[in-house]
Amino acid sequence: MSDDVTTKPSNFIRNIINTDLAEGKNEGRVHTRFPPEPNGYLHIGHAKSICLNFGLANDYDGLCNLRFDDTNPQKENEEFVNSIEEDVRWLGFDWQERLYFSSNYFQQLFDYAIQLVEQGNAYVCDLSAEETREYRGTLTEPGKNSPYRDRSIEENLDLFNRMRAGEFPDGSKLLRAKIDMASPNVNLRDPAIYRIRHGVVHHQTGTEWCIYPMYDYTHCLSDSIENITHSVCTLEFADHRPLYDWFLDTLKLNSHPQQIEFSRLNLQYAITSKRRLTRLVEENIVESWNDPRMSTISGMRRRGYPASAIREFCERIGVTKSDNSVEMEILDACIREELNETAPRAMVVLDPVKVVITNYPEGQTEELIAPRHPQKEEMGTRIVPFTRELYIDRADFKEEANNKFKRLVKDKEVRLRNAYVIRCDEVIKDDNGDITELRCSYDPATLGANPEGRKVKGVIHWVSAEHGVKADVRLYDRLFTVPHPDSDKSVDDFIELLNPNSLVTLTESVVEKSLATTEAGVVYQFEREGYFCADAELCRDGKLVFNRTVTLRDTWAKIAQ
Ligand code: ATP
Ligand code: MG
Repeated sequence: MSDDVTTKPSNFIRNIINTDLAEGKNEGRVHTRFPPEPNGYLHIGHAKSICLNFGLANDYDGLCNLRFDDTNPQKENEEFVNSIEEDVRWLGFDWQERLYFSSNYFQQLFDYAIQLVEQGNAYVCDLSAEETREYRGTLTEPGKNSPYRDRSIEENLDLFNRMRAGEFPDGSKLLRAKIDMASPNVNLRDPAIYRIRHGVVHHQTGTEWCIYPMYDYTHCLSDSIENITHSVCTLEFADHRPLYDWFLDTLKLNSHPQQIEFSRLNLQYAITSKRRLTRLVEENIVESWNDPRMSTISGMRRRGYPASAIREFCERIGVTKSDNSVEMEILDACIREELNETAPRAMVVLDPVKVVITNYPEGQTEELIAPRHPQKEEMGTRIVPFTRELYIDRADFKEEANNKFKRLVKDKEVRLRNAYVIRCDEVIKDDNGDITELRCSYDPATLGANPEGRKVKGVIHWVSAEHGVKADVRLYDRLFTVPHPDSDKSVDDFIELLNPNSLVTLTESVVEKSLATTEAGVVYQFEREGYFCADAELCRDGKLVFNRTVTLRDTWAKIAQ
């Protein structure tokens, strides 16, 4: 057991494992798995499950498998398989050689089904889908036995083998477990084990199979085959646990993992339903699965969220059994805390207005030195060229303002970050009255520090007009206008809840020269503006595109106050 087992905050799953270990259960092993279905990209909810499963394995010197739950070939594909592997790895976890697919076990699952038939625990049923639903009953009324329930073992074996051989059309027959049509738990009312699916090409097994096992049957058996000890899943599977146990008990398997349910992560202003995320992509409401506004792991990566901050978030929200929804501010805070430590500083002018320093020589460039991080000398310095013509942000100038406005005001002074104090002497406007240029003078005695007795409070950022580099800057906001887009009942379709201003692209922004050769994926703190990440898809052929990862402060909390 590694040292930090005792230092990490406990939770009910760790308590179960501690008890199991104390009792010598599972020969002292801890073996978990993360079992995604490759029918979409992973989202923040999956991150919680990944951190939990791989985290438990790490903490208890155990193992965690990556297993694709691939029993639904129509909705699955290789692109999803690849993206899931990439995302788990990027989050910092390693399944070593234990990469599995449920489809690896199709033959064994078929053999187990034969065993169930031979034991009289499964039967082939010819009811139509609609009839099957009718016979199932409701939450308050028991179901009715299927007229095919008492077929002989011989007949069931014959029919099931012919299902496998492809003799029957889709939907004409099911293999069902023979449990109890009157059970108060509808999951136990003779659930389907195998269904017929012709004409689909499975991404792993091709056209080898025309019958596919159902999720509940496949999952527990895959866990058992892999000798999983603790099968951690989300709360909605609690009612399926008796079925999980029934299959393993009825087949008399030695390896009987324990299913443990925890509450799924719901993140406010985000969706964690693959079906809905798929709609956003397929209907081109977002650019792609990795659109930086998506709550997908690949979207968060592209937006600049560090993997370590996502792991910290998953740790902080904890593991419980009660449904809850987590505020976006908690995730944002984790991102900011991490980036504040690691992101190099730089300057960008998002909405530029020109400043001409009238007493600075034309054609001169001074190479000023600025630290990459104010507290971390080891991160080194960068060169910031200073010239006669500069840009500052339009929002940093006012012709008249009171003392609360600590930026540039006509006839007053302000410090340019990492450079000199300037004074605004003249404001030039166009025919519409819009400011086109600020004529300023600089004080050569103010580089780095104020001369004695002189107080200049405001500091603003700037970029040399000559050396600055144009960039597109993408400002993101929440994708939805309501905190619970997954459950909001005020509209028929969650698409109506989209925030129309979730993306604003600025095309006139200018970044400092040192960013001209920025590598995609690097996150900077643009001083006074926020954290920004060079976009991994759009930075091409010298073009610079930055995604705003997160603002510097929690502006939403301010609005709420
Ligand atoms: P969806 O309902 O969006 O299709 P899913 O749960 O079916 O998601 P899977 O690929 O089957 O998606 O999930 C893999 C694992 O991730 C499962 O163990 C599941 O319980 C877990 N998981 C999925 N969503 C969440 C969530 N929001 N919070 C925590 N764990 C989750
Ligand atoms: Mg699932």
